[in-house]
Amino acid sequence: MDFSFTEEQTQWREVVRDFARRELAPQYTYWDRTGVFPRELWRAMGRLGLTGLRVSEAYGGSGADCVTTGIAAEEIARADFNAAYAVMLNALLAEVMESHATEAVKASWLAPMAAGERLIAIAVTEPGAGSDVAQIATRAERKENAYVLTGEKSGISLAAVADAFVVFAKTDPQAGARGVSAFLVPRDAPGVEVHKYQDMGHVAVGRGSVFLDHVEVPEDYRIGDEHRAFYQLMKGFDFSRVLICLQCLGAAMQSLEETADHVKRRRAFGRPLAQFQGVAFPLVEYHTWVEMIRWFSYRALWLRDRGLPHTKEASMCKWLGPQIAVQAIHECILLHGHYGYTKDLPLEQRLRDVIGLEIGDGTAQTQKMVIAREWLGKEYKPY
Ligand SMILES: Cc1cc2nc3c(=O)[nH]c(=O)nc-3n(C[C@H](O)[C@H](O)[C@H](O)COP(=O)(O)OP(=O)(O)OC[C@H]3O[C@@H](n4cnc5c(N)ncnc54)[C@H](O)[C@@H]3O)c2cc1C
Repeated sequence: MDFSFTEEQTQWREVVRDFARRELAPQYTYWDRTGVFPRELWRAMGRLGLTGLRVSEAYGGSGADCVTTGIAAEEIARADFNAAYAVMLNALLAEVMESHATEAVKASWLAPMAAGERLIAIAVTEPGAGSDVAQIATRAERKENAYVLTGEKSGISLAAVADAFVVFAKTDPQAGARGVSAFLVPRDAPGVEVHKYQDMGHVAVGRGSVFLDHVEVPEDYRIGDEHRAFYQLMKGFDFSRVLICLQCLGAAMQSLEETADHVKRRRAFGRPLAQFQGVAFPLVEYHTWVEMIRWFSYRALWLRDRGLPHTKEASMCKWLGPQIAVQAIHECILLHGHYGYTKDLPLEQRLRDVIGLEIGDGTAQTQKMVIAREWLGKEYKPY
């Protein structure tokens, strides 16, 4: 067993942490207050290589491994939880597109995405189908050398700002999960409309709905085989689920460290708060949880880097990490007393932001269904 990061990975953590502290942390709450999307920061992240970690060098990325990508997700989220989407979402898209997109799509979309110049969102969820994703109703009908897409996608991160969407649609509506295909749909294609939500958190992520009204895309904009998207592309979510876990833990760890500093300085009853076990023990408990899940997450990424099975581990990360992060940040707010409840500190925003990823990419219940299927056996699936 070797529990250490490589020298290169350790240096990468320092580079990302330094960048995030300087460039991201000071503005984290600004984007939340204004609702402005920080496009220039995505470009800056692109210049550092954060948006192209899993894109191969042939398309302008660095072809980094999964552990290295996890380090970036964790460090960026410490400074700006929402900016970590640039790492997490782009890593998912890179894997999906590198493996399954045609040359036409890769040539025109992968390199600008890796550079942080173009944003691509992933559009699976619909008003009538979220956890039960095989029930999506968006249709893609063949028309000579093209497909015509009609339907509504909901809850899509970056919907308001994306330059394109990877849209999941039914090419064989009778075939359930076996009739789903995926398509790259440019935002400016005729028939595409977006509507931005007023979210409780994730404000700078611009989540929203995407409406597709007879949107025509060329055949070579299909990503993966026809009818096979569910099986080919969904594997990418084993990756994003671990990255999301590290993203949430990064925000939690930062909050715990800020709170540790606070309780060492703040005095009550003649001594620092940290001397009271009623204060120190909850901090210690969450520190323990976060550290343990964090290492489990890196193990899941290590498995992925070696091509070993990790679906169960990814879902374990995804249900537990965000939940513990939310509880930890809540505790940090309480340990800051009345001041913790103000918007002067980033804690309340972190709590609102992290809650979103208890839902996004599949709720805890959905993950537990995956774990049950993988561990107990397919014959015990409830569907
Ligand atoms: C911040 C955020 C970002 C998101 N980003 C994206 C994105 O980029 N792209 C995208 O496509 N989607 C995105 N989503 C949508 C997200 O993936 C879905 O919201 C999620 O999968 C749940 O689907 P739903 O909202 O339809 O809830 P439902 O499926 O209606 O579920 C509602 C509740 O019922 C529970 N439930 C459902 N079925 C069962 C069951 N069998 N057993 C027990 N409990 C069950 C669920 O766990 C949940 O608590 C995002 C959501 C959020 C909040």
